[in-house]
Amino acid sequence: MPYTLSAAKLQTYYRCPQAYYFRYERRVQGAAFFSSAALGTSLHQALAQIYQEWHYQDPIPRYEWIEHCWGQQATNLTPNQISEGRNILRRYYESFISGKSAMRQPVAVEGKIQGSLCVENLEFVLSGRYDRLDYLDDGLELIDYKSTKDPEPILEDEIDLQIGLYFLALEQHYQQALKRLTLLYLRTGEQISFDVTPDHRRQVESVISELAVQLRHDRQWLPFPGEQCDRCAYARYCPAIQAEPEPLPEDAKPESGLQLMLSI
Ligand code: SF4
Repeated sequence: MPYTLSAAKLQTYYRCPQAYYFRYERRVQGAAFFSSAALGTSLHQALAQIYQEWHYQDPIPRYEWIEHCWGQQATNLTPNQISEGRNILRRYYESFISGKSAMRQPVAVEGKIQGSLCVENLEFVLSGRYDRLDYLDDGLELIDYKSTKDPEPILEDEIDLQIGLYFLALEQHYQQALKRLTLLYLRTGEQISFDVTPDHRRQVESVISELAVQLRHDRQWLPFPGEQCDRCAYARYCPAIQAEPEPLPEDAKPESGLQLMLSI
């Protein structure tokens, strides 16, 4: 059976193999994550509708189109969240639509991509989701909307892995190269873009090779203590920072040997 890899999995492994082991090999639940997820989901859905259902006969939609889409997607939200979402989309419209000569039709919105890679005789499925995929003159641009109030700081190494993984998967699916990843911060109207280079591909292939060796041979999952330990949901189980780490919960997945099938 192939081993599925997402950008989040790869980033967790890169951050700390021990945390990866807890989360993905033993399936230990992390700390509960409380957030205004419902508002973020509605915003993502409204933006998908704005781009997907616009007729593109006029160069740009009027603001009423944004309001119409928000009205359809702002369900199951509190009045405060509806008003907050409306303000966020108004800012988005002013920052990214109204000042442009035309709103370009994307390749796809809210899509899934899959690719594959064989390393150390292990078959990896590279899987990911994206918010929007646009055509550039010479390739593709992936758009990632950020809707949280306190977005995590950008860690360049982790972004590089995300770019590399999407590069590999998109190349196989669209036969076109990913040229840029852009993060759009919905609450501030800020935009940060990263150009793709050949190093992104090399880096992701190297980290996947290292992970393949872990899965295939080492299975040591060494802890990598650092600043990330302050935010680690598994700190209480971790021998690197606890003199007497707690045992894993009883419902953790049993330790298993390699259950991956060799590709022949
Ligand atoms: S506490 Fe630190 S070293 Fe331990 S698993 Fe978490 S990130 Fe890794």
